[in-house]
Amino acid sequence: MQKRNTVLTLGILAILFIIAAQVIILRGLWKQQNEMLTLRYRSLTQDAVRRAGPVAHDTVWLILNKYSEKVVGELAGIKDKQKLEEKKKEIFEYFTAVLNREQDFTSYLSSYFEEQGFEKNFNFRIVITNLEITNSDTLVVYRSESFLNRRGMGQGGISAPPETSKSSISVLRQRLIGNYYAFYFEYYIDFSDKQKLILRETAVSLLISLLSILVVVIIFLITYRNLMEEKRLSNLKTDFINNMTHELKTPLATITVAGKTLEMEQIRTDEMKILETAKLIGKQSIHLNQLINMILEISMWERTEFQLDKKKVDIAEFMNDIVNSFKTGYGNAADLTEKYNFNGLKADVDLVYFTTMINNLLSNAVKYSDKDPVISVEGFVEDKNICIRVSDNGIGISKMDQKHVFDKFYRASSGNIHKYKGLGLGLYYVKKIVVAHGGDVTVTSKPGKGSIFTVTIPY
Ligand code: ADP
Repeated sequence: MQKRNTVLTLGILAILFIIAAQVIILRGLWKQQNEMLTLRYRSLTQDAVRRAGPVAHDTVWLILNKYSEKVVGELAGIKDKQKLEEKKKEIFEYFTAVLNREQDFTSYLSSYFEEQGFEKNFNFRIVITNLEITNSDTLVVYRSESFLNRRGMGQGGISAPPETSKSSISVLRQRLIGNYYAFYFEYYIDFSDKQKLILRETAVSLLISLLSILVVVIIFLITYRNLMEEKRLSNLKTDFINNMTHELKTPLATITVAGKTLEMEQIRTDEMKILETAKLIGKQSIHLNQLINMILEISMWERTEFQLDKKKVDIAEFMNDIVNSFKTGYGNAADLTEKYNFNGLKADVDLVYFTTMINNLLSNAVKYSDKDPVISVEGFVEDKNICIRVSDNGIGISKMDQKHVFDKFYRASSGNIHKYKGLGLGLYYVKKIVVAHGGDVTVTSKPGKGSIFTVTIPY
């Protein structure tokens, strides 16, 4: 239990560690790709601009010259601080609007990007980072923080810049100086889905990383399942040894007591009692012998391959013989009915193993019953298969146990292990014999209602 928990905890910790490591690696990769994307589009834009020749600002220059000349006059007349701020805002907006109208390179850049084999859909924007109106004095109309930082001027810029979003890439920076103004501005491109672009480029690494996590998880699950299976088998073996010891001790104890009885004086004079005790010793010795033979048989079955000695028999007749001899022995108290529909079919089966298989099913039907056993044996032919169905009204088998009853040493309802004696081998042999004949055996059952075992063997 403790070993299992340690393996589980260590396994989960290892998986978490691997996932964390992968996340860190991927985040680094993502950041790197993001930077590469910025560099690529910046260099593409600069190439495009270089190819088109120097960026002409003539129209902008003229319009803004005219506008700023007018504005210089207006500014001189404004004394109120708030009014001045409003005027600055108006000037800034006008400059921005003119730039974005007159210097829009969208279509040129787009076709250049496409030509180079890159993404061509983006939004284009020009953002002013610093704007000054100059006359005899210089009036700072707008100064963004990024501009200040870039120039090592620290904080203290005017108004927070509404300039960029995380997905924007600044591709070109320029400066324009007119008669009454000077300003710096940047060209930005915005991909509507920049994440998708990065994802496309990191897809292979992402996939490998996910796969490696998946492989680790699968390996862990397989190892854990094997460990559980090993543990289950070792538990079953311990149960088997306990059961076997219990089974062997019972006849041995009877023989010991019988021996002691024979030593008693008053018994030795009573011939009837001596005979009775001798018979008891004989019976228990046979039982002991049977148990020892069974143990030998188990190890033999394990070591050697199943060798079937098949003979052709009339299945209905053969079944009838097996069931009748069962009725005269272990099954004498059971209400046992038979119904066969084999249409005189003759099939090849190993007579000894086949008998053992049917007997095991029948004796379980009697054994696992808490009332008078009512058993029905049906036989029929279906899709070139011999089908034999043994149904009982016994204690039934839970869904969970149904999955394991054919396993070696498996005994259901361990709480009742001594109420119903057994070694957990009967159904294991049934399955082995049926499989050796090329068939299969299944069980359906409801606890408290009874069980149905169906054997199917091709003929
Ligand atoms: P054993 O009878 O020696 O325990 P088996 O392999 O024959 O071993 O059966 C395995 C387990 O399946 C049994 O311990 C019992 O719990 C359950 N089982 C088998 N047959 C029946 C049945 N007809 N009705 C209810 N339980 C059964």
